[in-house]
Amino acid sequence: MRADVIVIGGGLSGLAVAARLADAGLEIALVEAGAALGGRVREERVDGFRLGGGHLAHTSWPALSELAELPAARSARLTLRPFAPGVRLATPDGLLRFGAAPNRPQQSMATLLAPIGTVADKTELSKQFYRLARSPLDTTLSGPEEASADCFAARGYSPVLVDGFLRRYLTALSADEDLAASRRGADWLLRLLVRGRFAIPEGGFNALIDVLAARLESSRILLGTRAHEVHADRVATDAGLLRTSAVVVATEPAAAVSLFPGLQEPRMRALTTLWHAVDGTMLPPPCPERAPALLIDGDAASPVARTWVHSRIAPDSAPAGRELVCTMVAGHDGKELEALNRAVLARLEPIHGVSARGFQTLQINHCERAVPALDAPYNFARPVRLIGGLYVCGDHRGLPNIEGALASAARAADAVLADLRRR
Ligand SMILES: Cc1cc2nc3c(=O)[nH]c(=O)nc-3n(C[C@H](O)[C@H](O)[C@H](O)COP(=O)(O)OP(=O)(O)OC[C@H]3O[C@@H](n4cnc5c(N)ncnc54)[C@H](O)[C@@H]3O)c2cc1C
Repeated sequence: MRADVIVIGGGLSGLAVAARLADAGLEIALVEAGAALGGRVREERVDGFRLGGGHLAHTSWPALSELAELPAARSARLTLRPFAPGVRLATPDGLLRFGAAPNRPQQSMATLLAPIGTVADKTELSKQFYRLARSPLDTTLSGPEEASADCFAARGYSPVLVDGFLRRYLTALSADEDLAASRRGADWLLRLLVRGRFAIPEGGFNALIDVLAARLESSRILLGTRAHEVHADRVATDAGLLRTSAVVVATEPAAAVSLFPGLQEPRMRALTTLWHAVDGTMLPPPCPERAPALLIDGDAASPVARTWVHSRIAPDSAPAGRELVCTMVAGHDGKELEALNRAVLARLEPIHGVSARGFQTLQINHCERAVPALDAPYNFARPVRLIGGLYVCGDHRGLPNIEGALASAARAADAVLADLRRR
C-alpha cells in the first residue's frame, strides 16, 4: 500500500495532522494501534453514562478554537460548553472564587476579598491576573525560566497563598504538586483564570474526535494496526509494509521514543479519574443563569485535585434523573484504589453537599503516564521536523495537553507541506 503521508497514531494530534494534510489534497494513511480513534481523550458509554479521562478544555485555546470556527461544510460542528468563569476553591470558609469573567479582568479583584493570604499577597496576585489578562499569549510564554516555587517566592507570595491556592490550582490543572512547573507554564495556567473559561465540548470529547475524523473521509484509517519501524519512505506495520513520501509519528511520548530512540521522553505525571453517580434530587437544582463551577479542593491533605458535576456541563453524559460527578486525583501510585475512593468520597461529601453514601462509584481509571510534566525549563515549541520526510507531533512537542497536541499537529503539517513542495 502507498500513501502520500503516513500518520502513526489516531489520538487528537494524529487526527489533526491527518485532517490538515487531507485538506491540502494529500492522500493519507492513518495507522492506529487501538480499536478506536481518539487516544487518551476517548470516552465510552458505561451503564448509560459517558465516561473518559475527565478532560477539560478551554475557550481561549487558539488551536482548539480554530476547530470550533471551521465552516460546518468542512466538518461536523464543534461547540464548547463553558464552566462558570475561573474556579472555586473549596475551603472551610465556603467556596472562594479565583478568576474572572471573560472580558472583565477587573473581576479578578474578587481575589482581593478572598480570606486567604495577606493583603500584599492578594494585591500582587490581582495585579498578576490583570497583567496576564491583558498580555498576548507570546508574552506569557516568554521571559526567564525558573521553577514556579522560586518564581512565587520572588514575587513575595506568602506560604499561605502558595499552599492554600497556587499549589492546589497547579495540582488540579497540571498535576504539579511539587511546584516544579515552569514559571511560564504556571503563568499560562493562571492566565486561563482570566482569559476565557474552562469548557467541555458538546457531546463530550468524542465530538472533538468526530470533528477531526469527518475530514478524513477519503483517507485510509487502519485501526488495530501497530507501526513497528519507521523510515522516511516506509513504515513496517502489523498490516505489512506501507510506502510513502513522509511519515508523521503522533503517538504518546513513550511510543514515539521507541520508534525514534533519539527523542527524549519527558517525565510523565500520573492521574486517576473517579466517576460517581448521584440521584439528581440530592444536588441543588441547576441554575439556568449560572454555569456550573469547576471546583478545586483547598484542603492540603485531600486527594481531590479537581471535581465538578459533569452532567451539568454535559447533560448527555448521564441518564435522566441521575447526575454524573467527575473527580481527578493527581500523583497517586495506582495501588489501593478502593482506599483512595473512600478518601475521595469523604471530601466529595462537604464539597458537593451530598452524603458519601449517596455517591455510586461507576469507574476508577488510573493512568500512570497521563500527561508530560511541565517541568522548568520547558520548551513550548519542541521541533516537529526530525529530518526531511520524518516528523513528530503530540502533547510532548509543546504544551502538555490537548491544545499542545493540536498546535504541534498544525506545525508538523506545515513542515510536511513545505518539504513536499520543495521536493
Ligand atoms: C486521565 C487524563 C486526564 C487528562 N486531562 C487533561 C485535561 O483536562 N486537559 C488537557 O488538555 N489534557 C488532558 N490530558 C492530556 C491529553 O489527553 C493529551 O495531552 C492528549 O490527548 C494527547 O493527544 P496525542 O494525540 O498527543 O496522544 P494520544 O491521545 O496518546 O494518542 C496517541 C495514539 O497513538 C497510538 N499509538 C501508539 N503507539 C502506536 C504505534 N506503534 N502504532 C500505531 N498507533 C500507535 C495510541 O494507541 C493512541 O491512540 C489528560 C490525559 C489523561 C490520561
